[in-house]
Amino acid sequence: MHNILITAGDGIGPEIMEEAKRVLSCFEGELSFDFTEKLIGGAAFEQYGSPFPKETEEAAQKSDAILFGAVGGPKWDVLPLAQRPEKGVLAIRKTLGLYANLRPLTIWPQLVDFSPLRPEILNDVSFIIVRELTGDVYFGEPRGFKEENGQRSAFNTMVYTEEEIRRISKVAFDLARKRKKRVCSIDKSNVLESMRFWREIVEDTHRDYPDIELSHLYVDNAAMQIIRKPSSFDVMLTSNMFGDILSDESAVLSGSLGLLPSSSIGGKNALYEPIHGSAPDIAGKGLANPIGMILSVAMMMDHSFNRPDIAKNIHQAVSNVLDKGLRTTDIWSQGMKKVSTSEMGHAIEKEIRMM
Ligand code: NAD
Repeated sequence: MHNILITAGDGIGPEIMEEAKRVLSCFEGELSFDFTEKLIGGAAFEQYGSPFPKETEEAAQKSDAILFGAVGGPKWDVLPLAQRPEKGVLAIRKTLGLYANLRPLTIWPQLVDFSPLRPEILNDVSFIIVRELTGDVYFGEPRGFKEENGQRSAFNTMVYTEEEIRRISKVAFDLARKRKKRVCSIDKSNVLESMRFWREIVEDTHRDYPDIELSHLYVDNAAMQIIRKPSSFDVMLTSNMFGDILSDESAVLSGSLGLLPSSSIGGKNALYEPIHGSAPDIAGKGLANPIGMILSVAMMMDHSFNRPDIAKNIHQAVSNVLDKGLRTTDIWSQGMKKVSTSEMGHAIEKEIRMM
């Protein structure tokens, strides 16, 4: 029995989650699921006064995997930081000790025209970013504001422990073993002590992985190579802040934010979510692309339930639907059939059931 917690969240979250559930229903019988649904984000704040209520936390602790939609919306932008919906996703990752964020980038040949890059640069592009998620300047202490001699200043601390670097490096090297066996570690070791240490520990961890090719890039160069030669990457290993920036840059290559899944792993369970936010501008209109959410289900099948065959079938179903010319608004072009969120979900479900 697989215990799955469903946290749809706000905005387009509930709409795309319906389509994820539709896809999951294809595998009931072959696998057995126990679903629990809980509130998170703005929806949870409305009911409980907290974006990550105790009830949701307890359900998360008990689950094998969590499917997460998206949180946030203008309605809650005025709240103090601790109560804002976005706190919900940070808190759930932190509580569950999910220290590694995996973002695979697939370029769908059917959609290359939506990428800002020329099609020939996108040939053979398929890489995955392994981003450290619970350390770095985002969590480092001391942090704050101060005033001395009439001068105001603000500061944060970029800090990594050896253990934090070692465990995220292992995730990257283990993943590379299932791919093209190449890891590129991103740092800024030419100017930052913490990043010099990062490189030292990555290299030391690499000694246990002689079959994996390790290279290093400074983050500024990496930002350039993602645009110049994205096919040169297989597994990209990054710290929290550099991964935050580079993963959004990489996402643009695919053509739409709505296409990309992610997983956060490292604890006893894992969380799966599309990379985009709650898109309040299109919420409730049937315009959201559910593919990123559906591919997050594929990642869950592969990683949490050890069913790479099912993950592959979901990918194939998405590809078949794109081959047939079905497009949500964000990826629609002349000559293609414009479909709603649920029509896209139905079409993918139909493809899976025909396999
Ligand atoms: P966003 O990702 O929600 O939207 C950016 C743009 O992409 C919008 O034009 C939106 O319509 C479009 N878009 C996003 N997902 C789409 C999809 N599946 N299909 C079609 N189009 C899609 O980012 P934003 O507008 O900066 O943020 C909106 C809210 O989401 C904010 O409150 C923000 O804090 C929150 N947010 C949440 C998460 C999360 O829950 N993990 C992540 C990022 C932003």
